[in-house]
Amino acid sequence: MEVVWNLGAALEYLSRMGCRRVLVQLPQGMTHASERFLSAVEDRSMEALLWGRPAYGACDVVDPEAAGADCLLHVGHLPFPWLTPERAVFYVPPTEVDVGAVADALADRRSVALGGPAGVLPWLPRVAGELRRRGVDAGICEGRGRARWPGLVLGCNFTSLLSCRGEPVVVSDGSFHALGLALLLGRPVVRVDPLGRAETVDPMPTLRRRYALIHGASGVRSWGVIVSDIPGQRREELASFLCRSIRDAGLRCWQVRVTEVTRAVDDLGLEALANTACPRVSIEDSPMHRIPILTPFETLQALRLAAGGRLSRKYVMDVMF
Ligand code: SF4
Repeated sequence: MEVVWNLGAALEYLSRMGCRRVLVQLPQGMTHASERFLSAVEDRSMEALLWGRPAYGACDVVDPEAAGADCLLHVGHLPFPWLTPERAVFYVPPTEVDVGAVADALADRRSVALGGPAGVLPWLPRVAGELRRRGVDAGICEGRGRARWPGLVLGCNFTSLLSCRGEPVVVSDGSFHALGLALLLGRPVVRVDPLGRAETVDPMPTLRRRYALIHGASGVRSWGVIVSDIPGQRREELASFLCRSIRDAGLRCWQVRVTEVTRAVDDLGLEALANTACPRVSIEDSPMHRIPILTPFETLQALRLAAGGRLSRKYVMDVMF
């Protein structure tokens, strides 16, 4: 398994490994550029196959042999070593970051912890260097479990930012990662985009929507508990625990096996769903569903309300290690 930051090096590794059929797995937002990757593989005299749906993250890495290939080119994510096929190359296209502008945006802070998605990581040491030159204590720390790369922030794991002593700052294109951290901390989080534009991401609007869903689900009689067959999203024990808790509350519960959580789950004849797959599916995709899709914590809160109890004061963000 190799990790590289440019496509030429990725192809070089695949050639040197003696690959003959390469399965190309692309993330959402890059599938439209599939031809570029497929042609690049073929230009090196290897056969190219394309995986037919976008990869969610490094939690969603395909075994090339199961797909009829002998090697994998996975684009856009840093690997979780325990989920990685041996004959795989991970290529992360770096996001262009204006180092000076990002440092300018943070120059008035005393101490910051820098982190972001995989594409910004090569730039973070330079941003930290610029900040230190301006007297700001800037740290980049290694996270735990699936975020064991210095500064790496995932939608479900923020440990790299929480391991550092400074104020956490997410450097990223969109607010997805910063919102996850804001929900975890229960307070606004600073995000700076690669051009140096800063914003504060407030968890409150999302929390209000989540509590409305919890209240809605507290009156239902039949639940499904979603279990994903994507290897890095499968949480069997948690699903069994949730279904048991629901049944112990006198309600009906069945596990629902899926690869992706699509609109089809609304039509399974169930009134609410507890989601043990990617935590962000519950939060980001809820508006497209007709029935409540809750995280494990939210499900337990709904059961508590149904039993006449009170909501917990602190919202607990669903994280994965
Ligand atoms: S579980 Fe979701 S948030 Fe976590 S790595 Fe996978 S896609 Fe990203």
